[in-house]
Parts: sequence; C-alpha cells; structure tokens
Amino acid sequence: MYRADAPGRVNLIGEHTDYNEGLVLPTATPQRTVVELSPREDRIVRVESEGYMPVAYRLGEERHCGDWGDYVRGVTWVLTKAGHPIRGFDAGIASRVPPGAGLSSSAALEVALLRALREAFSLALDDMALAYAAHKAERDVVGARVGTMDQLAAGLARTGEALLIDMRKSQIERVPIPDSVEIIVIDSGIAHDNAKQGAYNERRAQCDEAARRLGLASLRDATLGDVERLAPQNATLARRVRHVVTENDRVRAFVAALRAGDLARCGALVDASHASLREDFEVSIPELDALADALRAQRGVYGARLVGAGFGGSVLALADAGRAADAARAAAERFRARSGRVGHVVMPV
Ligand code: ADP
Ligand code: MG
Repeated sequence: MYRADAPGRVNLIGEHTDYNEGLVLPTATPQRTVVELSPREDRIVRVESEGYMPVAYRLGEERHCGDWGDYVRGVTWVLTKAGHPIRGFDAGIASRVPPGAGLSSSAALEVALLRALREAFSLALDDMALAYAAHKAERDVVGARVGTMDQLAAGLARTGEALLIDMRKSQIERVPIPDSVEIIVIDSGIAHDNAKQGAYNERRAQCDEAARRLGLASLRDATLGDVERLAPQNATLARRVRHVVTENDRVRAFVAALRAGDLARCGALVDASHASLREDFEVSIPELDALADALRAQRGVYGARLVGAGFGGSVLALADAGRAADAARAAAERFRARSGRVGHVVMPV
C-alpha cells in the first residue's frame, strides 16, 4: 500500500493575473487530500472517495464523463499518454479540502493521486513535471479552462511559505510566511456559478481584447501609460488593464512587505487588491464587500479581500498569530447579522 497527500491552496494576492501572464502568490492550506493506493496486476482502476460514487474503468478507456472520476481518468490518461509505465490499482481518497470553496480541492486530488502513483510505479516525474501532468489532466479530460497556478501550488507549496509564481516564465520563488501571520478564509456560501462563469469568461475576453488593442502579447506588458491611452477609446477595458497592472505591482510589494515582516503594509495591499477587484475589475458583490468589512472591523486583522473569480466564493484576511480564530468567528457572526447569510470559516482550521 502506498500513501501520498497534497494540500489545497489559497492565493494571498494576485487575482485575475494568472491568465494575463502575471504574478500570483499562493500558499498551501493545512487541509490536505490523502490517497492510499495498492497496485494491481491487471489494468483495472478502482477508486473510492468518501461521499462520492466509486469509480471503476480499464486503463486505456478513459473518457470525459462529467463526474469526479474525470479527475482520476485524467491523471491516468496523461500518464499513459506520456509513456509512463502504470498498471491498474485500487485506491481510496480521504480529503479535508472542501470542494468548491476556493481552496482548489481538484488540484489537491490530482497531485495526491499522482504522488501515490509515482511511488507505486517508480515513475520518473519530478515535482514540476507532476504539477504539469495534473494540470493537463484537468484541462484535457475534465475540460476546465484553468491556468497552472492551482497544480503548481498543490504540487510545490509547503506549509509556512508562499510561492511567488511568475506565470509568464513558470518561475517560482519561495517566500517564507512569518510566524506572526495567520490566514483567515471565510466562505460566503454564495455560489452564483452561472454568473461567475459568464463573468470570468467575459473578463478573460476583455483582457485579451485590451492586449490586442494595445499591441501587446499579454497584459503582463501593460503599463499605466497604456491605461491612459486606452481610456478615451474604452473606459471599461482601461479599468480592466489598470487592475492587472496595479495587481502585479501589489504582488511584488506584498512579497517585499512579507519578507520585512510588515503586516500593516501587507494588509493595506490586500485591501487595495479588494478595492481594485471591486472598482476596476468589477467582480465583487455587496455580500463579499460586507464580509471583507466585517473582517476588517476585527482587532488583529490586517486587510481583507475577495479571493478567486468573484461573484461569490470566499474572502481572505491576514491576522496576528493567535487572533485569527476569534476574529474569524466574530466576523462571520457580524456578517450573518448584517446580511442574513451564514459564512463558513474555512481557515484557520
Ligand atoms: P475547487 O478545486 O475550487 O475546490 P473544482 O470545481 O475545481 O473546485 O473541483 C471540485 C470537484 O473536484 C468536485 O466537484 C469533485 O468532482 C472533485 N473533488 C474534489 N475533492 C474530491 C474528493 N475528495 N473526492 C472526489 N472528488 C473530489
Ligand atoms: Mg479546482
């Protein structure tokens, strides 16, 4: 029996920058997904996961079915296609990473399964190649149009550090998170999936369109001068560009502040990220603003912002170590009193 695991991830700052070849700063969550796997002599794959229907198929017969088994089939399809020598296996999955809460449970599952398979079949896959295999599985078999951040984070991030990822070069720098900082994540409980997907696709298209009009390969190359040039032509596109330009700058500034242990500065940058997502990228909703405000009102909290695509999902905040649990509980209570909605504290655990 082989056992492997992988964490979820939460992106500290750098939102809607990944698909613009920009900078992101994810860190590992304490919640992890664990896979226990026993190789078989034949080509049958059987996988069970608590709360899900079991999955069974034969290697070589992977196809998209629209259920969670796609993540498993995606992984074996990618490995087989790349010529890695795998056989069938029986596996069990146990996960503490909540699905759909913005912690990337899907990447945790893919990476944990790939790690177990790497062990079981002695695959020649380094951590970077493993993360890319996980991404390919999700893109090609699950069919999700996602960047590589989730899988790089699940595959490479260690607890207590963030990964500064330059999405243009896939270059990664490890940034220690000082012990003085704790992270809060509260799920708003709002899942406007259709609005979310529609808006996400629209924002991506707007970024592509803005880059095209500016004659740039991607908005990674845009400047505030470009924002001014674009504004008379199209004020909306100019705001989108301004978010991407200023957000990349905030990621750099945040890393410097984190290295200096300057929590107040980190918090101000997180607040500025939220304001930019609300005003320039226009992906917030009043409930997320209220939840972020409820967090900011707590003692020992330094800044809060929506995380993920927006239009629902979670809000992240930075807190003094030792204050996060109380602050999160009080903020969730205040949010409930003001909005009538029940937020769920995802971190601290
Ligand atoms: P996120 O990755 O942000 O949590 P996704 O929609 O990308 O959200 O992935 C969630 C999906 O991943 C679930 O609907 C399910 O299909 C699959 N998944 C995640 N965790 C597990 C698990 N422990 N067991 C089985 N499937 C899982
Ligand atoms: Mg996912």
